[in-house]
Amino acid sequence: MNSSKDSVDGEKDGGEKSAPESNHNCQLSILNYQLILKENWGYDDFRGIQREIIESIGAGHDTLGLMPTGGGKSITFQVPALAMKGVCIVITPLIALMKDQVDHLLRRGIKAAAIYSGLTHEEIVITLENCIFGDIKLLYVSPERLASELFQKKLRHMCVSFITVDEAHCISQWGYDFRPSYLEIANIRKLLPGVPVLALTATATPQVVEDICEKLSRNEALGPRPLATEGTQEGGTRKFNIFRMSFERKNLVYVVREAPDKREQLIHILNSLSGTAIVYARSRQRTKEVSEMLNQAGISATFYHAGLDSSVKDERQQTWQEGKTRVMVATNAFGMGIDKPDVRLVIHIDCPDSIEAYFQEAGRAGRDGLRSYAVLLYNDADKRKLEKRVVDTFPTKDYIRQVYEHLAFFYQIGVGSGFNHTFEFNIDKFCHAFRHFPLQVDSALKILSRAGYIEYTEEQDNQARLMFTVSRGELYKLENNTPAEEKVITTLLRNYGGLFTDYHYIDEGFLASQTALQPQQVYQILKSLGQRHILHFIPQKKTPYIRYTQRREDKELLHFSPEIYEDRLSQYRQRIAAVIRYANDDRICRSRQLLNYFGETESHDCGLCDVCLSHRKEGLVSEASLNMAMEKILQLLDDGQQHPMTDLRGLQLPVGELDTALEYLLQEEHIRQEDGLLSLNS
Ligand SMILES: [Zn+2]
Repeated sequence: MNSSKDSVDGEKDGGEKSAPESNHNCQLSILNYQLILKENWGYDDFRGIQREIIESIGAGHDTLGLMPTGGGKSITFQVPALAMKGVCIVITPLIALMKDQVDHLLRRGIKAAAIYSGLTHEEIVITLENCIFGDIKLLYVSPERLASELFQKKLRHMCVSFITVDEAHCISQWGYDFRPSYLEIANIRKLLPGVPVLALTATATPQVVEDICEKLSRNEALGPRPLATEGTQEGGTRKFNIFRMSFERKNLVYVVREAPDKREQLIHILNSLSGTAIVYARSRQRTKEVSEMLNQAGISATFYHAGLDSSVKDERQQTWQEGKTRVMVATNAFGMGIDKPDVRLVIHIDCPDSIEAYFQEAGRAGRDGLRSYAVLLYNDADKRKLEKRVVDTFPTKDYIRQVYEHLAFFYQIGVGSGFNHTFEFNIDKFCHAFRHFPLQVDSALKILSRAGYIEYTEEQDNQARLMFTVSRGELYKLENNTPAEEKVITTLLRNYGGLFTDYHYIDEGFLASQTALQPQQVYQILKSLGQRHILHFIPQKKTPYIRYTQRREDKELLHFSPEIYEDRLSQYRQRIAAVIRYANDDRICRSRQLLNYFGETESHDCGLCDVCLSHRKEGLVSEASLNMAMEKILQLLDDGQQHPMTDLRGLQLPVGELDTALEYLLQEEHIRQEDGLLSLNS
């Protein structure tokens, strides 16, 4: 494992004088960090680049750590968080992972907390107050919460040691997983002058690395404490310390297999290699079909996608995790936060749409360091399918305008109205009504979202939400409520603030426990209050929803800037092209191709991938003599007759050359062999 350190310049160096005073006096020696590691985690020493990252952030430098999955990322912020004064803010998009980490930390006796959408207002206030007055060392926050007024207000009173940005590539629109909510981090930095940031990612191209540093740069001139940067012009940025751990996975063998019949090939691979496997497919329907096919072939399999109930997902994940099911056939919804060390095989039967995604998914094999395989099944149809994805993901602007207008017809919203209205979105109904295809509609809505006209939340476990549609005064005047309804209303008012002005997430289970009713009863009551137009209730369910974040515009006035459309389209094209290149390039070692993509140029041949293997075979004989041998064999068989092997011996070719040439001709299906007799394949 190699590590290197380099710096990326910010936008412009505006004559920086000296580093601003940091508000933490915690430049601890590495010995103290090591002690903390030993006391809390039981490890004697740090691995790889952990130590360098910790020292850098501990000394108050903005730091970027590039570590592959399984590189021991969490230690790099948890240890300094314990060593330093105050609370470390950890920004991460994965709520499940967040809860998991907080649980782990609490079990180790480390004070940690998390804030995410779904908590009650009161719970959030208590957590934030604990960060101000209590001794919480790590506060996990989902990026969406950063913009909230409450959070920002409380943040000003916190002693923050440093900010950790997990999955930092999400801040880059050059990355494959851009999340606009990450841009809010830059604003948070302004509220916390002098507080350093630690950005971490397991997938970033050089372009993305540069973008992360630029987006996260502290611009002290804009901060409320201008003293430290006196003389610094606007745009003066500090530099990041960058630590890189090679993304190389020595135990992972990358293979691209040409497979005209993917299902047959899949069964063949699973039968020839043993151990737990993940099979990635593009569509939900396909995960089900492939899983059924495998079971029929006697290979134990189950399937997983985002559309399943969480209890079903949990159960399937569990049986797979425990080794009771061998193969998990899944969409890309499977894998985040799953830490099964002994996955031997990751097979893609469809191409992902970026090398980043492929690398992450393939990387779930072999976490235990033992030999594992990442196989991409590929055939001629894939190139066409990949290219079609570009068109599906970026429909024309005219088409997007059309969808926007149809949406307004669908919800009957006139030009100039609709602001802040939220609707459930049934994509099938919509497509049926206006003769669209779901794929393009989905893409159009995402682009409209990015352009700020709507907020489109894709299918997910949406928590129940509600808002009163009557005023507080009117609510108190209502007379014909049942006692149970009264109880639910009172409990709502007591526990959730702002229900008269905006939608709030509510927890039906919590309401049930507070009112001593069954969750089902609470649900019925909320529904009936909804029917009586007392409140608007959006039950918990897997439905996408759409919120108008602006008043409805005339479609001709919709504007899509290059950052929203053209730039992203060209990036997407490049990512697709890179996947096609990877699948088709059989000259460069697969591992090298992947590492090159992430900017690692000093890699070496892995010796195990399909490319390296075929090179080894070729190494046995020179290409010229191999071609000569093949030609002689073809000449002999040109008479159209079947020939026994002894005829070939008469050609007097060296044994190695004869065998290799025969192998090639057979594999390429130029010749065939039946009952030991060779003939031309006509
Ligand atoms: Zn190789």
